[in-house]
Amino acid sequence: MQPTPPTPTRRIVIAGGGTAGWMVAACLAKTLGRKLDITLVESDEIGTVGVGEATIPTLLLFHELLGINEQEFMAATLATFKLGIGFEHWRAPGHQYIHSFGLTGRDHWTAGFQHFWLKGRERGLASAEYGDYCTEHRAARENRFAHLPKAGMNYAFHLDATRYARFLRSFSEPLGVKRVEGKIVDVLKHADSGHIRALKLDRGAEIAGDLFIDCTGFRALLIGTTMGVRYEDWSHWLPCDSAVAAQTASVGEAVPYTRSIAHECGWQWRIPLQHRVGNGMVYASRYLDDDAAKATLLQRVQGEVLAPPRVLKFRPGQREEAWRGNCVAIGLAGGFIEPLESTSIHLIQRGVIRLLQLFPSDGICAADVDEYNRQTRWEMKHIRDFIVLHYHVTQRDDTPFWRDCRSMDIPASLRQRIELFQESGRVFRAPNELFAENSWIQVMLGQGIVPRRPNATADMMGDEELRHFLEGIRMGVERTVMPLPRHEAYVREYCGAV
Ligand code: FAD
Repeated sequence: MQPTPPTPTRRIVIAGGGTAGWMVAACLAKTLGRKLDITLVESDEIGTVGVGEATIPTLLLFHELLGINEQEFMAATLATFKLGIGFEHWRAPGHQYIHSFGLTGRDHWTAGFQHFWLKGRERGLASAEYGDYCTEHRAARENRFAHLPKAGMNYAFHLDATRYARFLRSFSEPLGVKRVEGKIVDVLKHADSGHIRALKLDRGAEIAGDLFIDCTGFRALLIGTTMGVRYEDWSHWLPCDSAVAAQTASVGEAVPYTRSIAHECGWQWRIPLQHRVGNGMVYASRYLDDDAAKATLLQRVQGEVLAPPRVLKFRPGQREEAWRGNCVAIGLAGGFIEPLESTSIHLIQRGVIRLLQLFPSDGICAADVDEYNRQTRWEMKHIRDFIVLHYHVTQRDDTPFWRDCRSMDIPASLRQRIELFQESGRVFRAPNELFAENSWIQVMLGQGIVPRRPNATADMMGDEELRHFLEGIRMGVERTVMPLPRHEAYVREYCGAV
C-alpha cells in the first residue's frame, strides 16, 4: 500500500443518520463548520436502531459545547431527568440498590467516605444504606428533582432516541450540514492508498470526501465491510447478545432513574419518558430464545403496548481499530458493550470529541490515527470491566445463566480491582476513566462485596465523633432532598415554560 497522501481534510462524509451520525454532524458543524463541507447520508427505508434512551451526565457537557438550550432539548425529545440506575434482583432475588451519579458522603485526606461508613456500620452508628449519604441517591428514591444551585445535582436524561436524532438534524442543517437521502450500495476506494473515495448510492449518485465517518450502526459498512477491520468479540465476558424492545403507555409517575431489573437470563430496562415508557429485555440467546423473551417482556411490562416488540441482535465487543485510513467508526459501527450502564451515547460523544482533538486538518498522519485507536480501546475496556462486574459479582445461583456468570473467567484488570476492594475497601481511578471511584464503590457494595479491612484512619474517630460526622452528612442530604418537588411535576413545569 502507498503512503497516505497528505490531502487536507475539507470534505466530511458521514454515513448514517442515527444518534451517532447526527451527534457527529452537529458537533463538527458547530466547531469546525466554517472550514468543512459536511454531508450526511441516511436511508429512511433502513431506519435507525431506535433504542438508546438512557444517558449519563456527560451529555450535559456535549450540549454545553453545542450551545443547546436544555429546556428546548427536553421539550423536543420529551425527556425526563435521570439521577442514576436502580438495580433490582442483581445481587440476589429481592435485593435492590441504586448506582447514582452523585458523590456519597465526604472524603477525608487519607481515606474515602466508604471507610467511615463501613466502620460506622460495624459499630452500629451508620445508616444501613450507603446511598443515604448522597443527594442524588436520596432524590431518586424519593422521586424528587430540581436544579440546585452551586454544587447542584449531577444528572442526565432519559430521551426519545428518534426525536433526539431529529432535534440534532434541525440543529445541524442551519449550520450547513447537507443531508442526502439514499441507500449506500457501494463504497469506492482509491486504488493506490486504499482510502475511501466515495459512497455510491442506489440512485447512482456518488458522494466523494476526504474523511468518512462510519455511523451505519451494526452494519459497519465502511469500517467493517470496506476497510476490513476485524471485530474483537467480548461475548465470553458479556453473555447477553440479544434484546427485545417495546414501548408502553405511561402508568404512574415517571421516576428519575432507569430501572434495571435482573431476570433469569439477563435483565429488563424501564425508561420513563414524558409521553411513554421505553422497555426492553436484554438476554443471552444461549439461555433464552427470542419468542420466549418477547412473551416474557410482554408479561412483565406495565401499561398498554404501543407497537409490536422488536428483536435486536448484537455482539458485545469493539473494532480492533476505530480509525483506519480515512475512515473513522463512531457509534455502533465501532463497537457495542451492552446497554446496562447507558454508555453508548457517551462513547459517541467521546469519539467525536477525540476526532476534534486529533483532527487531520492538514492530512491524515499515522501517529494521530494510532493515538485515536489507543485511547478508544483503553476507554472501551475500562467500561467493559465495569459492566462485567455487575454480572460476575452476584450471589444469584438460581439459573444456569447466573451460575455461569459467577464462575466465568474475568479480565485481569477487573480481577485486580475487585481484589483490592475486597481486601481493603480501596478504589483508585486512573486518568480519563469514565467511572469514578464512587461508581465502583456503589456497584461493588451493591453487588455484595464487603471489604475485609477498611482504612484504619476511620478507627481514629471515637464513636461520638464518627456518629456526628456521619449524621451531619445524612441530615444535610435529607434537608436538601425532602423540600424538592416531585420529579414529574418539575419536568412538566420546566418543559411547559418553553
Ligand atoms: P443506528 O441507529 O443503527 O443508525 C445507523 C444509520 O445508518 C441509520 O440512519 C441507517 O439508516 C444508516 N444506514 C445503515 N446502512 C445504510 C445504507 N446502506 N445506506 C444508507 N444509510 C444506511 N445507548 C445509550 O447510550 N443508552 C441506552 O440506554 C442504550 N440502550 C440500548 C439498547 C439496545 C438494545 C441497543 C442495541 C443499543 C442501546 N444503546 C444505548 C446504544 C444506542 O442505541 C446507540 O449507540 C445509538 O442509537 C447510536 O446508534 P448508531 O447511530 O450508531 O446506529
